Amino acid sequence: IFISFEGVDGVGKTTQVERLRAHLESKGREVVVTREPGGTELGQAIRQLLLHGVGGEKSDISPRAEALLFAADRAQHVAEVIRPAIERGAVVITDRYLDSSLAYQAGGRELTLEEIKNLSLWATNNLLPDRTYLLDMDPALSHARLQHEQDRMESAGEHFQQRTRQAFLDLAAAEPSRFRVIDASQAVEDVWAQIQSDFDNPTVF
Ligand code: C5P
Ligand code: MG
Repeated sequence: IFISFEGVDGVGKTTQVERLRAHLESKGREVVVTREPGGTELGQAIRQLLLHGVGGEKSDISPRAEALLFAADRAQHVAEVIRPAIERGAVVITDRYLDSSLAYQAGGRELTLEEIKNLSLWATNNLLPDRTYLLDMDPALSHARLQHEQDRMESAGEHFQQRTRQAFLDLAAAEPSRFRVIDASQAVEDVWAQIQSDFDNPTVF
């Protein structure tokens, strides 16, 4: 089983990923928790480039180069971590996957959804999650919750974050059988209760 969590920065993806991990481990399942960008050693190096650029503050990464870096991270992630784990029967939970590229690199920036989708499907050899939880909330609220200093990507501005949120919602609406949209402005416990009841529904998995 392959599960992804998506949503703009600060919506609580990591917290819910850990809740699902604990829930599944308590039932005796093997769980592999991972994330993008940075789920492999190669991915860690790519993540550094993406978040901090090259040559300091002023360095710029072109939209196409950026899309390819995310795709390279994802290709390695699928080949090295995700596919092998699925094949041995583990549950794989990833904090971000290809919908992040569709929402950020296409929705938020200047590339088209079609080209990013083709690139992502090529990079993953067409591997899609069985279920995607979209944690949705107003970026004006989620951004305020971020504890750490903003990185190159996060500092792209509120308008960008709003467009990205809408892009995620559009993706979910286009693929309702894969996505579950969860109101992430609720308390952590309430968000988790919704995810758990979906996941434990025996007709789903
Ligand atoms: O979720 P995480 O903090 O690890 O993501 C790192 C940064 O990269 C975030 O600021 C996120 O907005 C951005 N990102 C992106 N495109 C992706 C994945 C993440 O712009 N495909
Ligand atoms: Mg972040």
